[in-house]
Amino acid sequence: MSKPKVQEELIIFDTPIGYGKTVVNFEIAKLHTRTPLSIPIIIQRAKKPGPVILFSAGIHGDEVNGVEIVRQIITRKYNIPDRGMTICLPVVNVFGFLNQDRKFPDGRDLNRSFPGSEKGSLASRFAHFIMAEIVPHVSHIIDFHTGGASRFNYSQIRYNPEDAECEALAKLFGTKFILRASTRDHSFRDAASALGKKVLMFEGGKSKHLDRIVTKSGLDGTLRVLHQLKIRDCSKELAKLDKPEPPIIIESSSWVRAKYSGMFRSYKANGSYVQKGERIGTLTDPFGDFEKAVKAKWDGHIICISHNPIVNQGDALVHISTKVLER
Ligand SMILES: [Zn+2]
Repeated sequence: MSKPKVQEELIIFDTPIGYGKTVVNFEIAKLHTRTPLSIPIIIQRAKKPGPVILFSAGIHGDEVNGVEIVRQIITRKYNIPDRGMTICLPVVNVFGFLNQDRKFPDGRDLNRSFPGSEKGSLASRFAHFIMAEIVPHVSHIIDFHTGGASRFNYSQIRYNPEDAECEALAKLFGTKFILRASTRDHSFRDAASALGKKVLMFEGGKSKHLDRIVTKSGLDGTLRVLHQLKIRDCSKELAKLDKPEPPIIIESSSWVRAKYSGMFRSYKANGSYVQKGERIGTLTDPFGDFEKAVKAKWDGHIICISHNPIVNQGDALVHISTKVLER
């Protein structure tokens, strides 16, 4: 059956986007075996015009929580809009996803390669195509990430504090913490925000790990945003969720680092509040002689804990808020 004729023609990667579902396979490159590598982009377009939201995950190939969140958005059909359009990019860095590696095969971090260039490195070309082909069509973006290496982020939304709409969406997303974090140069958020796109960055859990609480908080927040933007009526799903507490708005944060090399055990729950001088963990040697307390150096909320048991002097252990705004 042919698709109904669309009023406004829309073309992404040479594919006309009609109403309903379109899957665009973006061929990025060939592997050294000549195997073609493509990433599927799942697009759902409503007849009624409206906001266009992009859900992207796996910019860092080993951050699987985000991939799982976008997969669930698709499986549960939350991406079918009443108005506007949704674009799902569940695995952006498919190279890294295959190898379970954060980076691109050329060793570059895709999230430091934006806006990219057509003739640059592989990561830079890839960034360029996302910016040229997808980003111009969208109004809103939720980019899903997790902590790098073994750093477990308590679910949080990061947003541009200068953007009032981003702030309002971050507040209603429903995570316990939201971080007023200025963008990092050459990140996807930085490049898309510069074009006026409303970008929320979700951070939750750690790489190479799936966490049900994290994926649920990402999914619940997505429903709240879809509903707020009237892209999809999510009142049925939202009625089953608890109303979230107002978020704790974190203005700045800093890491407690390892004074010594050793084995690190943390004592505190992620997301909890600690006071200056409180013992938050220990550093030990394997031989039973050495044991040093790791203490909080200021009062604050724990927003990330390293789950790496073996640490070197200077390694980041516990990420604690340093300045919190009044709710
Ligand atoms: Zn990431």
